[in-house]
Amino acid sequence: MKKIRTWVLLILFNGIIMIFGFSIFIYKTVQELKHTAITQSFENMRIFSTSVSSILSNYVDDWYALNENTETNWIDTIDKALKDIAQNNKKFRISLLDSNGEILGDSDAEDTQKLENQFDKEEIIKVLNGELATATRKSSLEDVILLYYATPLNLDGENYILRLSIPKHTSIYFTTNIKNMLILTGCIILCFVLLFTSIICFNVIKGLKELDNASKEYTNGNFDYDPRINSTKEISDLSQSFVTMAQCLKSDREKVMQLEKIRKDFVANVSHELKTPITSIKGFAETLLDGALEDKETAKSFVNIIDKESGRLFNIIEDLLDLSRLEQENGKIYSVEINLCSYLPDICKKYDITFISEVEEFFACINPGLFAQAINNLLENAIKYGGEKSEIQCILGKDKTIVIQDKGPGIPPETGDRIFERFYRIDKGRSRDTGGTGLGLSIVRHIVNIHGFSIKETGRLDGESGCRFVIFLDDYKGSV
Ligand code: ADP
Repeated sequence: MKKIRTWVLLILFNGIIMIFGFSIFIYKTVQELKHTAITQSFENMRIFSTSVSSILSNYVDDWYALNENTETNWIDTIDKALKDIAQNNKKFRISLLDSNGEILGDSDAEDTQKLENQFDKEEIIKVLNGELATATRKSSLEDVILLYYATPLNLDGENYILRLSIPKHTSIYFTTNIKNMLILTGCIILCFVLLFTSIICFNVIKGLKELDNASKEYTNGNFDYDPRINSTKEISDLSQSFVTMAQCLKSDREKVMQLEKIRKDFVANVSHELKTPITSIKGFAETLLDGALEDKETAKSFVNIIDKESGRLFNIIEDLLDLSRLEQENGKIYSVEINLCSYLPDICKKYDITFISEVEEFFACINPGLFAQAINNLLENAIKYGGEKSEIQCILGKDKTIVIQDKGPGIPPETGDRIFERFYRIDKGRSRDTGGTGLGLSIVRHIVNIHGFSIKETGRLDGESGCRFVIFLDDYKGSV
């Protein structure tokens, strides 16, 4: 199904709701105004009718004063009087009717004789019943709607009916102007609302499109794409979240790639490290089978090599298993509070290595077996690479450190932390000769870290050549 565009939807909805709302508002307002105008017209007719009544009463009195003993009646001249009154008030038509509904005088008619009897008219019936006599209906003479007002009038002791009428359109003519004005105002407001809605809408849509572009770029791996958005706060915040998300994705991807590289390197290294002794074992075994067994001396030296190489193979596999176990511990090891001042000398004594303590006692939460493995590795390396005469020392420092240092050839400073990488060795041949696997320091770092400590090779501080491994117990973050 084809989706409707947001801006079409917004403008359509806004337009329809506004047109509908305005139409109802204008219709109701005009209706109310018309109603008020008509009520006002009836009220005007009522007020005017009282004036006309008193004018006619005076007229009758005056007539008697002037026309004593004449044959004629004031009624014969009333028609002219009404025309005179209406002359000054052209809005109203004024009629005088007798109580039978006959029109005796009329401000508009040429000949009142020709006018039909009004007895059945609504306002006449109402006035005869003593009700408020108003009516609205179409004129019998013209095609216009008239407003009628009738009131009883006593002249010369007789009851008459005074009726006023006015075309409805003359009382409500102004409502057309107001209606037109309201429609015009409504249209202007509608245009402005639609204009501003469109501007806001397009601005938001532009922002959303840019975000759509950004997500496509991120899908294609371009995490550096920066959506340039100058829109509302919400859209700008959203774009900021997009950028943050892209940066997270980028760093995740880099981490995954790095891990993948580490994995590949590790597999390649393990294969290589395993292949070397196996190739050697296989080669010497084949040579023996090919006849070297006959020569006892040679056979013995070959079997010695096979024994040494299989020992190396065993060591590599042992170390790999250790590493894998440590990785699986995932920071959860059994540990106890141990005073290092008595724990470390016991280990050093085994290797006949000097232990120096700068503190009376130092308690740390460690797994004694694992931690001893780390210290053993460091001490054995010092012996292996520095030599027993290289003044190996193990110092428990007052600055919460354990230092193991020797005065051997040391590690080139540019090596840095790479020394702790698996299978990293400075002198491969030397390492192999001493039965090294290249995994010892990697295991040490794992053990130290799993305790919440850290380790660094700093080089000797006294400027002499040699190694100086420092375990920072200060980084200890509570129980592990
Ligand atoms: P290896 O089994 O080869 O000893 P390690 O991980 O224990 O593996 O050590 C890595 C490398 O670091 C060693 O091959 C060696 O070159 C270097 N190394 C470690 N300790 C010392 C030290 N005390 N003096 C000089 N070099 C050292």
